[in-house]
Parts: sequence; structure tokens; C-alpha cells
Amino acid sequence: MPLTSPVTVPNGTVRLANDSPRTLYDKCMALAGNLWWSWQPEIINLFRSLDPIRWRQLGHNPIALLREFTPERLEIRASELVLYTRIDQAYRRMNEYLSSSTPWSRRNVGVLGSQPVAYFSLEFGVHESVPIYSGGLGVLSGDHIKSASGLGVPLIAIGLFYNQGYFKQHLNDKGWQEEDYLNTMTEYLPLNQPADPQGNRITVAIQTRTGTIYAKVRQLNVGRVRLLLLDTDLEENSPEDRQLTSRLYGGNNRTRIRQEIVSGIGGIRALKALGITPGVYHLNEGHNAFATLEAVRQRMEEDGQSFDNAASDIAQKTVFTTHTPVPAGHDRFDGALIEEHLGPLRDSLGIEHAHLMSLGRVDTANHTEPFCMTVLGLKMSRYANAVASLHGVVSRKMWHCLWNQLPEEKVPIGHITNGVHVPSWMAWQINTLFERHLPAAWSEESIAPADWEPIQNLDPGELWETHNALKNMLVSFARRRISRQCRHRGESDDIIDRARTVLDPQILTIGFGRRFATYKRATLVLSDIERMAEICNDPQRPVQFIFAGKAHPADNPGKEFIQTIANLRNDPRFANRFVFIEDYDINVCRHMVQGVDVWLNNPRRPLEASGTSGMKAVLNGALNLSVLDGWWAEAYNGTNGFAISKGTSHTDDKITDQRDAASLFDVLENEVIPLYYDTDEHGLPVRWIRRMMNSISTLAWRFSAHRMVADYTTQAYLPAAGGTSCNMKNG
Ligand SMILES: *Cc1c(COP(=O)(O)O)cnc(C)c1O
Repeated sequence: MPLTSPVTVPNGTVRLANDSPRTLYDKCMALAGNLWWSWQPEIINLFRSLDPIRWRQLGHNPIALLREFTPERLEIRASELVLYTRIDQAYRRMNEYLSSSTPWSRRNVGVLGSQPVAYFSLEFGVHESVPIYSGGLGVLSGDHIKSASGLGVPLIAIGLFYNQGYFKQHLNDKGWQEEDYLNTMTEYLPLNQPADPQGNRITVAIQTRTGTIYAKVRQLNVGRVRLLLLDTDLEENSPEDRQLTSRLYGGNNRTRIRQEIVSGIGGIRALKALGITPGVYHLNEGHNAFATLEAVRQRMEEDGQSFDNAASDIAQKTVFTTHTPVPAGHDRFDGALIEEHLGPLRDSLGIEHAHLMSLGRVDTANHTEPFCMTVLGLKMSRYANAVASLHGVVSRKMWHCLWNQLPEEKVPIGHITNGVHVPSWMAWQINTLFERHLPAAWSEESIAPADWEPIQNLDPGELWETHNALKNMLVSFARRRISRQCRHRGESDDIIDRARTVLDPQILTIGFGRRFATYKRATLVLSDIERMAEICNDPQRPVQFIFAGKAHPADNPGKEFIQTIANLRNDPRFANRFVFIEDYDINVCRHMVQGVDVWLNNPRRPLEASGTSGMKAVLNGALNLSVLDGWWAEAYNGTNGFAISKGTSHTDDKITDQRDAASLFDVLENEVIPLYYDTDEHGLPVRWIRRMMNSISTLAWRFSAHRMVADYTTQAYLPAAGGTSCNMKNG
């Protein structure tokens, strides 16, 4: 095809395409090179349209896809599909975005402009094609940095690069979870190697008593935010240390502390090597709290301060977020591990072993107490927060031991409730519907409640139609995945064929997708299996369930929950009504939250610190059916979803479980199912649709990551950078 052939673009105008194949290809690669594309539906559609089947097979990885094209073939494909203008516009839009600041940032970021926030997290879930996350914590970090980019908050993120990531899950023929670790094709990730001001690549070294660990620094661009990732796969390291950052949450306690000195201490050194002076350190979870000690060391070296003065300075600039009341979620290391790994740093700090240990101990006089990273985070920060209001109450109780001279409600741990990145989780079909019908002030990124109120005036039929289109897509997705799962298990053609017809897009569909930690009680709906069989198979008002989620490799009780649910496929009462989609990740989650009618969440209260998947469901019109725990305890208002139990829990878990199960069945049978199947003369469940509108208009803006990052900025980052006191909500 000649390069100068006139190209008709969709709006009917004709322009000359004067990009050479090479330029066109480079523009596509540039788009793939910044993860900004992952929340731009037009660009996703552009990549997909190049080759829809390969796009799916390659796990939605645009670099892998583009590598299958030569510039000449891409050019031909672009002409066939009339993509020139779209590629060109996307490319220009990206460059504009990257070079502009936002009105919000001009009003709000003040002192952070020259001294950015350094945001530390051990995992980042930005997109399914970048497997450096395991679950909720990682997706939250990913959403946080995307919203920092959107709002224009100066922020640099720091984490680890795992070349095997978290495991991929499959179930064997007994329904038992098995784990596969695959090497990530790093050449297909948009990784850069950042350079210091002199143009040299950066390597950091972390000394221990038993040798030095080296790490190189890689970089991903996530919109306007740089994400630095440390990677120990270097020749200078011993074979074991080369593997140190292979797997997320792999290995033993020694692996863990070594990962944590690389990300914490190494992270601070990488920032310095890049010439970046952070104004604020945000520790997302205790994992990275060693960063504060290295920051203190640098402060002492630069200013000749004493340890105490430097520590107090750094604490003033440190924001610490705690994420779980579950004890196993808090890293603890014994004194020998601490001495081996922090000894050289401690020498530079000029403090005794006992002093260092006391920074990680509740009872500083107890020489047998292990070193707890959460305690270090709390002691080394002036701004500490939980991730939902109820979690704040629980955290103040849990850590009252550190401030026992204060009444519990005065413990200085506030809360900033989590949120989700709306452009990443709201289906573009829903976004398009809203854009068409809502006043111009509305945008999916708006956090002004008034912008979302007009949702109430949408045409119920159109919202319902859009929802059902998404639900159909979920059913197709589930059928495709389930037949593939059967094929991989070596099932007969008969069974594989039957898998292509599981589920029924016409009936009430309930989703449950999350980690299979036992406190999340995935099998609560099966506590009365006869009654559940009747509910599912009611001839007038049937119900079906879609489950997904990974159990930690060492969590056998969690794996038993998976097995119980997966093996329902052998029970004729449930074969068509309960399905388990393997290998839960951002992609599976996105399909589920966008397509289900109801999102089920039944953790044992109050162990769910926040939960975020239910917020993603809200954006797409699914109704939450949830225990009043985590975010739902502050979100539910009686008309924007459904509540299981009354927000109480018994000291005896068995009794709590029985009560919650009874309430779950009761609410399902007497509220959820009747409301869903109560249709008007046009077949519309108008009261249900009203509830969908209530849910979106009252919750979408409140539980958005833009609101969350705005809160962090005004309540923590700015006061921390400016040296003023904490103004976080406490209670
Ligand atoms: C959002 C998300 C989570 C978090 O789920 P919750 O249990 O609601 O906190 C976990 N995993 C993935 C892949 C997600 O996208």
C-alpha cells in the first residue's frame, strides 16, 4: 500500500497519511511504553484491533503484540482498519498529558513540587501484563500511583522487580490448587534503566554481616509517575541472591528480610543516586520500614546530626499506612536476622543492637520480643493511618500497647479509606453511557458528590441494557476460561463442550473474587447446602455463582475452600450454577466486577481492613451484598446495596459464622432475590435499577482513588513536607 494514499477517517474527512511505517510503529511502541495506555479504552481498543486473538493470547501485552509485526505489516493493518488518525491522536494526547500539569496540582501540591513523595510498596498491580502483584495491596498501590498521576501529585514509587512474580494458579482433577512459577518475559515489559545525572546506570549495594547484595534499578512509567523497581538479578550477586527478587512472597523469613532491605534501604539509595530528595516518605505497609533507617543515616551524614535528631526529622516526613489486623500480616524478625542484615547500617547510625531492636519492639525491655516491621513503621512516622474508619478503631485497639499512657481513642492512628482508580475499573460502556447522559461537569474522575447525583436521572432501561451487555460478556469469558480449564485437565470432549454452555446470562449472578484466606469465608454460602441447592434451582427465580481466587501456597485450609467450591461441578445440583475461574488476577477481576449483578463479601468481622473489589463493582452497577466490615461499614446506607448481619461479632468464631450464615441466607431469600426478579410490564426490575443508581451516585466518588490520594495529599503529605502536625481523622 503506498504511503501517501488518502485515508478516510471515521468523521469523513480525508487526510494524507505521511507517517512512514517506521514512524507509525515507533508511535505505537511509545504508547505501549508508558502504562498510561492501560486506562485509555481507545488505546486498548486500538491494540486489540490489530489482532484480537493474539491480543488475548498474549495476555493483553502490547509490546509482545507489536513485536509480532514488522513496521510494514503494521502499516498495512493500520490502513485496512483506518487507524492512522487514531494512533496519531493517541500519541499526541499522551505527550500532552505527560507534559502538562493539572489544575488540581497547581492549587494543591505546594511544597511537594520540588520534593516529591517517595511511595514504597512491595507490590504494584498496574495491569495484568505486569505481574509484580499478588492481590489487594498491590492493586491498591497501582491505583494509588495512577491517581497520583491523574491529579498531578509529584510522587515517585519504589518497589521490587520480580522476574517470576506471583504464582499462576491451576486446579488439578481433584480440585486442588497447584502453583506454577513462570519466568516473565522481561523484554516484553516497558522497562527502562534510569540513569543518574551523569548518565550512568544505577546499581545500589546493601552491606550485610555476611556479604553485600547488589541491585539494579529498573523503571516503569505509569502516566506521570515513575515506578522504580529494584532487581537483584546481577552477576555480582551469589546465585541465591540473584534469585532474591524472583518471587513475590516466596521463600522464608530470611528471604523476606533480604527483600525488605533491598526495597527499603536500596530504595532510598536509588533515590539519592538519581538526585531525588523526597519531601515525604510514604510506607505502604510495614514491609518497607527499613527505608526510614537509611534515610536517617543519610541525614546524619549530610547534616552531622545525632541519631535522635535525625530520626525525629525523618519521622516528621514519614507517613505510614497499616493494612491488616490479621497477625500473620505483620513481619517479625528475630535479633540474629536483624543483626546479620542491619548490622552494618546500625554501625553507621552509631547505635547499639538493643537500641535498634527497641525500635521494632512493643516492650522495649523484653529481650525476647522479635522485631516487628509494623512497630518500626509506627515508631518512625508522625502520620499513621488505617485504611477504613472501622479499621482505624481496630488498629488503635491493636496498637494501644505502644501508647499505653493514652486512652485508646487518642492513639495517633487515623484513617484514610481506600479507593479504586475509576478509569481502570469502570467499563468503558458504562462510562460512555454516563458521558452521553450526564451534565458536562461529570467525568469518571470527578470526586464532587454533586457531579454524580444526576445518575438518578438516567433512563433505567438504558442502564439495564448496558449492564446486561457486560453480563453477557462475563458469561462468555467464564465459558471460555472454564472450557480451557477442562481441556488443560485432559477432560473428554463431551465435558469440554458442556463447559461452553455453563451459566445462564438471564439469571441472577453473584460474584465472589478474592484471596482464599480463611477469614474471608468463601464457603459460607455452602453452610446449608440443601437450602443453597433450592435457591440455585428455583424454577422461577434461579441464582448462580462465579468464584475466583488464589490461596497462599502454604495455606492448606484456604486450598480446601477452593476444592470444596471447585468440586461442586461434579454435583448435578450445582454443575451449572457454581463455577470457579482459575488464576484470579486483574483481568479476571475486571470481567467479574463489570458483569455480575451482586458482589458478595462475607469476611469474619472485623478482619477485613477495607476490601476494594466491592468498590470496583459499584462503578459498574453491581450491588454489594456484604458483611458490615471494612469499607462497607461506612458505605452502606440502607438503599445502596445489602448488608449481612448488623455489624456485630461474637467472641466465639463459630457463633459469628452461624449468625452470619443465617443472615446471608435470609437476606438472599427475602431481599436480594425478590428485588431482582420483581419486574415491571416491560420486564425491567425498576426497584433494583433504582438501587444500582443509589449505589453509584452515593459511593463512586467517595471510594475513588482520586479522593483517596487527594486526602493523603492534604491530610498527610503536605503537613509532613511542611513540618506541621497531623490532621488526619481519628475516629
Ligand atoms: C481488587 C483486587 C483485589 C482486592 O480484593 P478485596 O478482597 O476486595 O480486597 C485482589 N486481587 C485482585 C486481582 C484485585 O483486582
